[in-house]
Formats: sequence, structure tokens, C-alpha cells
Amino acid sequence: MSPHLLDKKREDLASWLEENKISPAHLKPLMQTIFGGKNNFLKNSRTLPEKLVRLLPDPLYPDLKISALEISEDDGSKKFLLELEDGKEIEMVLIPEKNRLTLCVSSQVGCAQKCVFCHTGKMGLLRNLKAEEIVAQVVTANEWLIQNAVAENPNTVTNLVFMGMGEPLDNVEALSQAISIIKDPWGLGITPRKITVSTAGHLKGLRKLLAEEPNVSLALSLHSPDSLLRTKLMPITKENPLDEVLLEMENFATLRKRKIFLQYTLFEGVNNEEEHANKLISLLAGRPFKINLIPFNEVSFSLLKRPSDESVRAFQDKLIRGGIRTTVRFSKGRDIQAACGQLIRNK
Ligand code: SF4
Repeated sequence: MSPHLLDKKREDLASWLEENKISPAHLKPLMQTIFGGKNNFLKNSRTLPEKLVRLLPDPLYPDLKISALEISEDDGSKKFLLELEDGKEIEMVLIPEKNRLTLCVSSQVGCAQKCVFCHTGKMGLLRNLKAEEIVAQVVTANEWLIQNAVAENPNTVTNLVFMGMGEPLDNVEALSQAISIIKDPWGLGITPRKITVSTAGHLKGLRKLLAEEPNVSLALSLHSPDSLLRTKLMPITKENPLDEVLLEMENFATLRKRKIFLQYTLFEGVNNEEEHANKLISLLAGRPFKINLIPFNEVSFSLLKRPSDESVRAFQDKLIRGGIRTTVRFSKGRDIQAACGQLIRNK
């Protein structure tokens, strides 16, 4: 067993009980105890036999220390800086929206992909997160909400997006293990449809994830309809041709009767001209994609600029007239640097 139990699926925990000659009737309360968080441990563990409590590892949880918290005055987003057991740091962001509470989680410390506009990419990859560290982000957020009696409605995490630090499909094994744990109704109970894995377009990882977790939701960071320009912005395109990534996603969407969000960050004078809108229309017309336009959040290390709100609207209108479902998302948490591409930490 790992020192903690947060990376164990239901069947693993069932075998563990069997090995220790404990009745399977204790499996559900055991899971409620584990995933209920350390502050609820005493309360939840009362339903467990003493022998089982004695067998539980100590500490029960990987220690994710909240070392800083910033709360957006604009929209109530909360950015947590978490210190891992080895002293490395990651960030997660809690985003309150009507009837849902979304947690944006990290999958790696840093990132190996070198998207030119991204703060996290600047760090390089320090290491992959373990499955238990991914699950622990959700447990930590839920605990924080209970402890601080935050008046959110709902008051536990309802949706997950893998849009924090890292390319999740570069860490696909830990990712799919974490999802299989998080979705369990006896555990955190977040259904796969409410778990969105956002990728820069990692074909091998995508195929593996969909083979193991075929019901998750997907998002693709697109940022350009043109392979040459996209390769400059996102070097991952070189090894993972855009046409193939889109086709893989389209097949998934058709099979599962889903729409897939394509994130399209707008950079002034780079990918927001008429020709780009036209190329997007011919690339995507009639396909099961929706575009989310995100005006770039400027970062100090890059010369890339944010376009004006008027030009963003004009780009949106052009796409809509071309038959592409298009929304504009002004990133949450801009005032606390919690928006896309702004998460960075290093130690
Ligand atoms: S945008 Fe995503 S994939 Fe690209 S460098 Fe940043 S974290 Fe990595």
C-alpha cells in the first residue's frame, strides 16, 4: 500500500479489507472517511471498527499545505498556493458560478510543453503529480470550504477542470487513476461528464485516456487554425498534427453525443485577423465543436498583446455568421493572476 489511501480505487480498497480480514460491509464507510478529509476524520471514522481504524496509515493524507490564498474581488475566484510534501508548489483555483463550484486543478509541477504565451510553460517540467496529489486537491478544497463556512451554493466542489499547471495528458496514468477515484459515488462522486480534461493536443495521451475514461469531457487549446502558426505558439503541434487531434476529438464527440470546447486565446495581430476567422470557419463548420474566445491575459515575459474588446466581439460575430458556436470568456480571477496561462510557481 502507498503511505496514503487517496490513490486507491474502490476495488483496491476492497482487496485491502479482504487481506486484513475485515468485512466488505465497511468499504463504503471507509471510503466516506478517507474522502471526507482529515477534519472530518474523527466524525466519519466512528462508524469504522477499531481494528480498521488502527490499520489506517498515519498520516492518512498527502500533506498539501495551503501556503497562500488570494480571493478575487472581481468574481470571488480563490487561488490557492499549495505546498507539496517535497516542498514543491502548485496552484489550484476555486471558481464559483451559478449552481456549480468548479475546481481548476494542476496535474504537474510546471509543464514540459513550451507554449510561448504560458507562464507555467516557462518553468519547464519539475515533476508529475501523483494520483493521490491530484485527488488531494479536491479533498483540500472541500475541507477548506467546510472549515471556512463559505457561503457558496453548492458548498462542495461539483465540477473539475484540468486546466491548472501542466499538460494533463503528459501524466495520463496518474490522471486516469485520479479520475477513476474522484468519480466514485462512494468517494468524491463527481461524475465524469463534470470532469473536463483540457489538453494542448496530446494524441497518445488522449487515446489512452479515452480508452480508460470514455465519459469525461474534453477541451482543446486551439489558438490557431493554421498548423504553422500553431506550431510557433504551441510546439506540441509538431509531433501531434492538428488535423489528427481534431479528428480524434470529433470521433469521440460523435460517439458520445457531446460537444467539445475549443479554447481560442486571442493575441492582437497574431491570430485575430479576418483570415484566421475564415480558416476557423472552414476547419470547423459542421463539426461538433464550440469555440470559447479568451482575450489574452498579458504576461510580463511575452510581447504578445491583448486585443481590444471591440475586436474580440468582431471576431466572435464573424465566427457566428460562419455557423460556428462561439462564446467569449473573459477569464476568471484576472485580478489575482489565476487566469489561463498565469499559474506559475517554482522552488
Ligand atoms: S498552455 Fe498548458 S500545455 Fe502549454 S505550456 Fe502552459 S500548461 Fe503547458
